[in-house]
Amino acid sequence: MSELELYAADEQAMVELGGRIAGITGGTGVIYLHGNLGAGKTTFSRGIIRGFGHVGAVKSPTFTLVEPYELGDIRVYHFDLYRLVDPEELEFLGIRDYFEGDALCLVEWPEQGTGVLPKADMDITISVQGTGRMLRFQAHSSRGTAWCADLAIGR
Ligand code: ADP
Ligand code: MG
Repeated sequence: MSELELYAADEQAMVELGGRIAGITGGTGVIYLHGNLGAGKTTFSRGIIRGFGHVGAVKSPTFTLVEPYELGDIRVYHFDLYRLVDPEELEFLGIRDYFEGDALCLVEWPEQGTGVLPKADMDITISVQGTGRMLRFQAHSSRGTAWCADLAIGR
């Protein structure tokens, strides 16, 4: 299965869905998060990162571009490329080191890193629908396809 849509009625549902993603990915892979400002990309990222046991705050690393989280054996790198001026800045940031290991990379505003950013296992596009949010999951690798299948059967 390579595509799926799920509705999160409120912020709590969003965080819970993020928690499911944490479990399904097991902490390895690349996820691009699409959606307008205020769509819920950071809220969803918070759900994923909390899903691995993080208890503190999760904020968009708008100025630092990336925030690392070490949770036991799991490493999550949360990117926010909104303020990236030139994709080549990512080279200076040592982007390869983040993506070459077995970490989970979450990327808000991946469009800003086109050409330099490694390919995603899955795109997640979040849009406002009614008072909640619609999440569209699109897999681009066998790993992403397995995630979609797990999401679909409600794991
Ligand atoms: P982004 O990172 O996409 O700019 P944020 O996650 O920072 O968005 O903010 C999204 C806003 O929408 C927050 O105020 C959050 O409480 C709210 N929100 C997040 N998910 C949902 C949801 N599923 N339903 C309703 N409101 C949501
Ligand atoms: Mg954000």
